[in-house]
Amino acid sequence: MRVGIVGGGFAGLAAAIAFRQGGHDVSIFERSAGPSVTGGAISLAPNALTCLSALGVRARVVTEPWSRMPATVRTPEGRVLVRRTLAQLTGGDHYAAVPRTQLLTWLAEKLPPDCLHYSSAVTGIHTDGVLVVGEAEQRFDLVIGADGTRGVARKLLWPDAGPPTVTGIKGWAWIVDRELDTGFGPIWGCTTDFGILPLADGRTYVYGGTQDPGTDLRAYRHWPAPLPTLIDAADPDRIATPEIFEARPPHHLVRGKVVLIGDAAHTMRPTFGQGAALAMEDALTLVKCGTEGLEKRRLRILALYTASKAGSFFATPRLRVAEKARNLTLRLTPDPLFGLMAGSVSYWRPPARIA
Ligand SMILES: Cc1cc2nc3c(=O)[nH]c(=O)nc-3n(C[C@H](O)[C@H](O)[C@H](O)COP(=O)(O)OP(=O)(O)OC[C@H]3O[C@@H](n4cnc5c(N)ncnc54)[C@H](O)[C@@H]3O)c2cc1C
Repeated sequence: MRVGIVGGGFAGLAAAIAFRQGGHDVSIFERSAGPSVTGGAISLAPNALTCLSALGVRARVVTEPWSRMPATVRTPEGRVLVRRTLAQLTGGDHYAAVPRTQLLTWLAEKLPPDCLHYSSAVTGIHTDGVLVVGEAEQRFDLVIGADGTRGVARKLLWPDAGPPTVTGIKGWAWIVDRELDTGFGPIWGCTTDFGILPLADGRTYVYGGTQDPGTDLRAYRHWPAPLPTLIDAADPDRIATPEIFEARPPHHLVRGKVVLIGDAAHTMRPTFGQGAALAMEDALTLVKCGTEGLEKRRLRILALYTASKAGSFFATPRLRVAEKARNLTLRLTPDPLFGLMAGSVSYWRPPARIA
């Protein structure tokens, strides 16, 4: 089968590797000149690690000693609401965070160079399997729209699904060249949250989001340690400041010979850090179970889309009274139960059936 893939992000690369494992002829068209250089990292919960195993990349991800590192959920005043390990907070025995560019490079390295076409923007997609790349038209047996939140596949072929919507959240993500052994986990305020994670290579990853437009990062230097030190150490030229969008999955992910996977199909708030993991799950499900199997995933996708939205309101509820209620709820909830609930999003079994 000839498979044409639009987009060389997590969804597109995972689909390409898995289809090639099945002996198919695969071409990826990626508009950028190489793997994304957007800053930040990807947190890898058990489902993401399972996908990386299937894709032959798992051995490159170091999970120890990071999995067993103590982690807390704290308030901006430094009160500890939950105490667990990083693995327990993400639902398994193993956990790692890897720079985004590094993970994309590892995946791209699993493909022969003639399969991955960089600097190749797709401008047209047709349900009969025709892709327009530059001036040329190419025909495929299957086309995969894996071109992210504001890609052409959803826009051209799923106009009824609606465009992505703004959440009003502005994000920050940066990496500090410093190894820490304490202070990991999220800090949840009223309208702003941060998270501090160890990277598999020993450096430290910081992410955050705020609903207060125009607020400078330095406004959070009074938040608990080690955040102030990490803010001071941030290189302003290397802080990613993504605007957070969300897009509900359409009713059907298949139209003619075209399927939609990853963020192109469902963009979620990064509450659980699950977007890349779900993108790879989509890809593996499509390869193993065909388009029917992908359609059947809609329930899981919708559940996570809803949970990410609800989780985002729980983490940063906007109102002081709701913030107090959140803190009280967490103090009354046994820590293991919170770990189970937060980690439940990453329970996923790879499909066994081969299409
Ligand atoms: C702040 C933040 C933190 C996050 N943290 C995590 C995390 O810790 N763990 C996690 O699992 N997820 C996380 N996510 C989500 C994750 O980044 C996304 O879900 C993931 O990147 C989706 O992968 P994708 O391949 O579907 O889309 P993308 O990564 O967006 O890739 C799409 C690709 O398509 C290309 N493209 C677009 N249009 C065209 C075109 N016309 N022609 C050719 N190519 C095109 C783009 O250049 C891009 O390379 C986070 C997201 C944000 C915003």
